[in-house]
Amino acid sequence: MTIRITKQGTTGGLIKAVERRADVNLSVCYQCRKCSIGCPVAGETESPPSEIIRRLQLGAGDELLQTDLIWTCLACETCYARCPNQINFAAVIDALKSIAVEKGVAKPKGDAPLFNRSFLNSVKSYGRAYDLKAIAAYKLGTGSLGQDMDKFPAMLKKGKMAILPPSGADKGTVSRIFDKASKNRGTGR
Ligand code: SF4
Ligand code: SF4
Repeated sequence: MTIRITKQGTTGGLIKAVERRADVNLSVCYQCRKCSIGCPVAGETESPPSEIIRRLQLGAGDELLQTDLIWTCLACETCYARCPNQINFAAVIDALKSIAVEKGVAKPKGDAPLFNRSFLNSVKSYGRAYDLKAIAAYKLGTGSLGQDMDKFPAMLKKGKMAILPPSGADKGTVSRIFDKASKNRGTGR
């Protein structure tokens, strides 16, 4: 299927900020679509990776921050591995996500930004993901603490979730990574 993308309806101006934050050059993308073909969630999203890049090249502005891939991307980096021009599209998504958060763009269904924050806060506290704490924080934030409780015993039984927090992580290194990321965000990198 051919998707026609035009400048119509764009407000302009995101590409430079995205290129700077993601440290990529999007002008070298020649729309081979290898990234989109390999992306595991492309079939579920309104704009696959190559289309998002094309929209940026054509001057897309804040309207692009509404695109759902920002919140459904798995950060698997398959797009990056497949790109003949070494465009790190996962970093492009990270850049769009950070801009969307800074601009207070409307939260998508399910409140993915809250989920991201809950997950990252657990990593920051324990040096590794602590699913129980992340999920509890997310459920509290959405006011649905009791939701999905029926699944909890089965997950415990199958070892999919631990009650105790993870141990043995290099918390100092993880803490430094968070500090550096926080400083970079302050400088727009
Ligand atoms: S990193 Fe995101 S955009 Fe890239 S292939 Fe994986 S899910 Fe798709
Ligand atoms: S694989 Fe690379 S060059 Fe091809 S469309 Fe995707 S980003 Fe562009």
